[in-house]
Amino acid sequence: MFVCAVAWNVSAQNLVPQPVSISRGEGTMMLDTYPRIESSSVELAPLARYLGDFLTGGRVDLTLDPVLELPVEGYRLKVTREGAHITGKDYNGVWNGIQTFLQLLPAPPVITIEDWPLMPYRGVMLDVARTFVPKEQVMRIIDNLARQKINKFHWHLTDNEGWRIEIKSYPLLTQVGAFRGGDSPIWAIYGEWDKKYGGFYTQDDIRQVVDFAAVRGVEIIPEIDLPGHSRAAALSYPEILCSYTPNLSASAGYDTRDVWCISREENYQMLDIIIGEIASLFPSPYIHIGGDEVNTHQWAKDPNCEGLTQAYFTNRLVAIAEKHGKTAAVWNEAAASGQIPKSTLVFGWENVTAARKAAANGYPTVICPGEYFYFDMRQSDSEPGHNWAGVVTTEKVYSFDPERINNIKENRTSSAAEEIYGVEATFFSELLLENETPSPASSAPASHSFVGIEAPLFTSVVMEHGLDFIDYQLFPRVCALAEIGWTPASRRSWADFERRMGLVDDAGKPADTTHPASGTHLARLAEMGIKYRGSKELMRREPEGKLLDVTPTTSITSQRAPIEGDWYLWTFEQPLICREIDVKTGRDHLQRTGFPKGRVEISYDGKNFTKIAELNDLKATVRPEKPVRAIRVVCESHGNGESSTQVQPLRVR
Ligand SMILES: [Zn+2]
Repeated sequence: MFVCAVAWNVSAQNLVPQPVSISRGEGTMMLDTYPRIESSSVELAPLARYLGDFLTGGRVDLTLDPVLELPVEGYRLKVTREGAHITGKDYNGVWNGIQTFLQLLPAPPVITIEDWPLMPYRGVMLDVARTFVPKEQVMRIIDNLARQKINKFHWHLTDNEGWRIEIKSYPLLTQVGAFRGGDSPIWAIYGEWDKKYGGFYTQDDIRQVVDFAAVRGVEIIPEIDLPGHSRAAALSYPEILCSYTPNLSASAGYDTRDVWCISREENYQMLDIIIGEIASLFPSPYIHIGGDEVNTHQWAKDPNCEGLTQAYFTNRLVAIAEKHGKTAAVWNEAAASGQIPKSTLVFGWENVTAARKAAANGYPTVICPGEYFYFDMRQSDSEPGHNWAGVVTTEKVYSFDPERINNIKENRTSSAAEEIYGVEATFFSELLLENETPSPASSAPASHSFVGIEAPLFTSVVMEHGLDFIDYQLFPRVCALAEIGWTPASRRSWADFERRMGLVDDAGKPADTTHPASGTHLARLAEMGIKYRGSKELMRREPEGKLLDVTPTTSITSQRAPIEGDWYLWTFEQPLICREIDVKTGRDHLQRTGFPKGRVEISYDGKNFTKIAELNDLKATVRPEKPVRAIRVVCESHGNGESSTQVQPLRVR
């Protein structure tokens, strides 16, 4: 009977992420002595202190062994009746071993685990521009992530809505740029409109957070989003903008320009100084210089910028970063031209294809496509969150196999409405039909081009729900991310993961996550004070109302400027019965990707279309008279100043 009990005890350890190799013994480690932690080198002193906060008894030895025959970040954890021995290949290896050991408490079984990560880069990005996250909260989040063996924290420190890092040479970046609303020149797009809102980190704050993360083996990659997404910087130092007079009539008098002028030489001197200060604060070999969603329209209005491209800007910045001892990291658009150095670290975010393309072009690539890894996406139809990449559930995250990315299809999860109505959406253009054939699947890139995976979290939805909402967005999805980045596919299974997490019981039935079963990973998260999705505190979230989002593919985009006659079409297998439909062209953060002029047409039989509304300010609300079989939005102008067009999901009431 005793042996049976031990076997049950061991199999119920519910380790997350699942280790590479486990061999079980009999009995458990004795904990009825004073806690005693021995470490082999002074380098491990911070880890001994960290572990000391959790250990109530027993003996643990920490050893650093660079010649240990395991991959980087690997560890061997050997638990005997007398004590535990954690041997790490490197500092992070010891950290990882400690985390596994902590999951074995309160009664560590006799066991030997050899373990190492599948991918070297396992990251989370946090946007602190849209919602300011105070440093204490940032450190708490980093600790919670590090305990899942996440080893990279990508800190999105600047955006249109705020500049959050003190730059001593340019104090206005934070004195002005860190605040919006109230008497600030920065328009409050999110949150409290009439109240001044914001905050920033001093350089001392930054050092404190960097040191805190380093103890936990977490590298912080700072991001200054350039040359777009820079409204906060531009309103602090307006001379960085292209020199023309903007039309402010559509923005309540606020200057909403957000792109650094690329021909102004003084801008590069300023960025050299800014990047120099940032480089000295972060030990990471990388500095992320953004490069996403650049509104090139603003360069087009400046004769001095004529002929200059984003690749020109990126190459200047890559050189500046290099001068300060850093390798540049960028979002995938900045590398799309293929004209920037191949050492640049590329973050493939727009979709799986974008990540694949970056790797195929020879760039080391972090995989972070919206439809799998954007944690600001909603977790079901009725929950708050973004939707441009669809619903991103924990299971969806888990379904991504980073080693088989070449076989993964674009796969936006369909919403309930799509299932009901069988909706299909398409982009049509005569030009497209005549001149463009779909490009063949990109040739398989060397798998080593993919350095890892990352979950970006943009915080525009956080403000209205409070900072706890970050926990809800991260957990348990980040546990799925941690496991697919750590555990080889042969040792992963969703059913087993769900059970170890405590999302289902041993019979596979949905579990009561408000009271997670003891020994499950959810119970550990609760113990850590994490307000995960489904936890007691956050169980009862009001649904957002009866709005339905109806778009079946990843944000429908055309990869060129619109021409007259282009249209987006939605068809419904089952007639859609509704009162109103909102049709909106253009991306939320880059509205000009819409149709400047256009009309909405409706079809009640699926064949004949009649005009029902004009686009006004890129959008229209229509009131159908009968059940709808199809609806389309037709472009009536040439160009929109961008190199793409996009439509948002239909909103149906
Ligand atoms: Zn310019």
